[in-house]
Amino acid sequence: MPNTPARLETRSLTRRFGGRAVVDAVSLTIAPGQVTCLLGPSGCGKSTTLRMIAGVETPDDGQILIDGAEVFGPVTALPPEARGIGLMFQDFALFPHLTVAQNVGFGLKADRAARSARIGELLERVNLSGYGDKHPHQLSGGEQQRVALARALAPRPRIMLMDEPFSGLDNRLRDGIRDTTLEVLKEEGAAVLLVTHEPDEALRMADEIALMRGGRIVQRGSPYHVYNSPADKAAAAFFSDIN
Ligand code: ADP
Ligand code: MG
Repeated sequence: MPNTPARLETRSLTRRFGGRAVVDAVSLTIAPGQVTCLLGPSGCGKSTTLRMIAGVETPDDGQILIDGAEVFGPVTALPPEARGIGLMFQDFALFPHLTVAQNVGFGLKADRAARSARIGELLERVNLSGYGDKHPHQLSGGEQQRVALARALAPRPRIMLMDEPFSGLDNRLRDGIRDTTLEVLKEEGAAVLLVTHEPDEALRMADEIALMRGGRIVQRGSPYHVYNSPADKAAAAFFSDIN
């Protein structure tokens, strides 16, 4: 059964390091069932934003809401595991000593039958049926990434945060895995916030792009809008080196 995706909202989210706001009053709304790409150059504050939403970094200011309910703010600070959020990071390695099936089932709290049904369903979704008993080292990089996706989705997160999940893969593999990932995310039904520094990835995957620079959101809109009507010269230049 598909999940009911949630609405994720940040209001004036701020994080300072050594007096400098690396995330500076970021307000975002991620619509249920949509992929929002947080796009911007390296160092602009994308990962810090994601980490605050995940609950592994504490904001200095601002508010985070899921379906209108505060999960972080003046009166609340829910721990990461209580936020119903799935995470996928580039360097989120699989557990090498566990099989593919055990990796996918790792965060699942369910009885044996439900567990194995869920694992089977997910392996089929990522086109890895029959790989359950293999170990990660027997898989290619792209296959490992698909296992990581299945593992992140196993507990049916209503919100999925992805930080440059494809940047460790070579170009040849990327288009395919981007498409598979999108398909699986839509089938599973999550609100997705995908961080990337690559314009072509955002243009390919996003329903909505939030363009970030120097800790701030400088523009947001559909890929078509952001690409064709850049907010300023720097935004135009950022998109100009893709072909
Ligand atoms: P991005 O993911 O867009 O590349 P980050 O969110 O990782 O950017 O980092 C934004 C800025 O914050 C960078 O200048 C980085 O050096 C700084 N930064 C991140 N984490 C810390 C930290 N724990 N201490 C000090 N500075 C940090
Ligand atoms: Mg980063």
